[in-house]
Amino acid sequence: MNLDLLIPEYVRNFQAYLPSKPDHLLQQEYGVPFLHRLNNNENPLGPPPAAARVIASFPPERAAIYPSGDSYDLREALGLRFGVSRDRFLVGNGSCEVISSVIKAFCQAGDNIITADKTFAVYEWVAEFSGIEARLVPLRDYAFDPQGMLERIDSRTKILFVCNPNNPTGSYWSRQTLIDFLEQAGPERIVVVDEAYREYVEHTDYPDAMELMERFPNLVLFRTFSKMYALAGLRAGYLMGSDEVVDAVRRTSVAYSVNVQAQQAALAALSDDREHIAATRALVREGKSFLRPLCDRLELETVGGEGNYLMIRVPINDLLMYRRLMKRGMMVRSMTGFRYPGWIRVTLREMAVMESFAEALEAEVKAIRS
Ligand SMILES: *Cc1c(COP(=O)(O)O)cnc(C)c1O
Repeated sequence: MNLDLLIPEYVRNFQAYLPSKPDHLLQQEYGVPFLHRLNNNENPLGPPPAAARVIASFPPERAAIYPSGDSYDLREALGLRFGVSRDRFLVGNGSCEVISSVIKAFCQAGDNIITADKTFAVYEWVAEFSGIEARLVPLRDYAFDPQGMLERIDSRTKILFVCNPNNPTGSYWSRQTLIDFLEQAGPERIVVVDEAYREYVEHTDYPDAMELMERFPNLVLFRTFSKMYALAGLRAGYLMGSDEVVDAVRRTSVAYSVNVQAQQAALAALSDDREHIAATRALVREGKSFLRPLCDRLELETVGGEGNYLMIRVPINDLLMYRRLMKRGMMVRSMTGFRYPGWIRVTLREMAVMESFAEALEAEVKAIRS
């Protein structure tokens, strides 16, 4: 059997994403009795209480029954929350799934998408394994470069992806920057704004992109229940767009992909988020104002802004640093895969964990420099 004849070249050339091993295996491998996860920007507080109750009281017999195939009640709740019709939302098995649906809905062979070189890599990956060219525009001062992106547009550009705020650099576009970009990009292509970390942003010039959608019907938003709402393990995210856009994307999305517990927990989380968001923001603020001065003292460069993460430049190869920290039970993200060799990204967590991490980092940096 000659698979080369069977598999498209762009699939043959694509390197599959390798998820990390389960924690119990990593603990064995690195010989540690515990592992603090600082690698995936998870929220250590867990989901809001109402969502926690839904999960704890989930009736086992409900598992035998298919979920709503289009997350009807959750979309209804989103519609009420944001004052628009439920038909403007499409829920996916995490917002990663809707990335794929959007690319399938708008792109065919010969088309291209535009995004940044150092951002969430899934936009680029999905384009590439679908045979669509991904044009990567370098960040400017660690932020998405609107002018650079506009210059790469041609007649085959279908989608521009902007991560706002950006993972991993924490930079964000203000309302005015986004409006200028939408005006210049024109209505002939889709502009996706991924707001996975929007609930962490406290600046008043951060755009309310939903309001802009009335003026720019080619604007699409991604949001997720994985980060602030702490439901990453259940997988629920959504996109919001104009009726016409959502109608197109719905055709290429998988019905029934969002499980019933995820739908119910997300709905509950939405109804009980005020104190949860305030508590999470306070935790992130405290973690950041502890970790940054530590890095300054150790003379380690940092890059951060919005979001529950901080990038740190380390004095050795980031993968080696990852392994050294793993031996101390600290799992960070090594950033070579984000095209940031020599950097790690650290999730900001509760102070007890931040203090253990600081100890581990300081010990390793001193050992490396001695
Ligand atoms: C984590 C993350 C997502 C999506 O996560 P899902 O769990 O698939 O909803 C999307 N975009 C960015 C930038 C992220 O960091």
